[in-house]
Amino acid sequence: MEREISCRHCQTHNRLDVEEALRNPDAARCGRCKGNLFLGPAEVYTGLDPRSYEHPLDRQALEALRRVPGTGTFLRFLLKHGLDRTYRLLMKQNFLEVRADRVKSIHSIVEDTARRLDLGCVPETYLVQHPQPNAWTTGVERYQLCLTTSLVELLDEAELRAVVAHEVGHMQAGHVLYKTAGAILYYLVGTLLSRTTSLAAPLLIGMYYAFRKWERCAELTGDRAELLVTRDYRTCLRAHLKLASGSPKTMPELNIEHLLAQAKEVEELSDQNWLDQLIIDWQQAGMTHPFTVWRAKHIDQWAHSGELWEVASGNYRRRTAPNVRVVDADIPEEKPGKFKKLFDDLKDLFK
Ligand SMILES: [Zn+2]
Ligand SMILES: [Zn+2]
Repeated sequence: MEREISCRHCQTHNRLDVEEALRNPDAARCGRCKGNLFLGPAEVYTGLDPRSYEHPLDRQALEALRRVPGTGTFLRFLLKHGLDRTYRLLMKQNFLEVRADRVKSIHSIVEDTARRLDLGCVPETYLVQHPQPNAWTTGVERYQLCLTTSLVELLDEAELRAVVAHEVGHMQAGHVLYKTAGAILYYLVGTLLSRTTSLAAPLLIGMYYAFRKWERCAELTGDRAELLVTRDYRTCLRAHLKLASGSPKTMPELNIEHLLAQAKEVEELSDQNWLDQLIIDWQQAGMTHPFTVWRAKHIDQWAHSGELWEVASGNYRRRTAPNVRVVDADIPEEKPGKFKKLFDDLKDLFK
């Protein structure tokens, strides 16, 4: 597949072979000035607006979530009472903080990735001893990135960089407020529903499924941030494959083609049978992440579509105000009086 890419140095239009670019992005040069067509591994996506790489399903699901009654009130409640600090306090007490003078190898990956995506800050980073390889992000006023020890053990440096880029993508795309709200909501649903049969129940359940649907779609945006930083879809897919297989021992017998082949098989099954499609939707309804095969499919698609290379060539949307975060601006308006019963229940819970 070919795509026309404008040179960021001399604006000459170049025909790009996407497969060649995927194999070796540094070899892609402008036919006229011979400059690199793509930003190199040390260059910054200056002023990058996350809408340049946001997955369309993420935007759609977020708009649907913002329309669910109670969402705006819940987010304001969270901000007003500073509930996001719960996680920071937990991490500070129980997890090992990574800094420039402690676990420098990981700190430098986080610092470098935040700089490359022009996040405007370096997130606080924590390591937690846990057998499940995982990474997540919380914090509304201040970002916290958490990595489990088994993730660090399972992935090589390039793959770990991809995972960190995914998390920085969540931060840059403004997901963290909603993700933090989602995490608190899941806790509340479990706690409140066992204590009350009030009006809160249907409201919370509606919000619960809307949050989960959006979270799954937001993952696809995070996966695109992995591609922007690594410029190597094979590294990203290998990280996902390792997370799926769970063991470095099986990796010598696996490759990303196996993962993509499995994704294709599932897609064919769902295309052939509406009932399979329905079951797949139902099976994912309660998940915060899409199943591995679907993520692999979207990563592969975006890398081959050429859109990635537009952004990597510096041709992306820029933020109008650099690094200004107005968290309140992202909260939908609604009349809080309508949800008084729900928030009475929430207040009781935090007494
Ligand atoms: Zn040029
Ligand atoms: Zn994610």
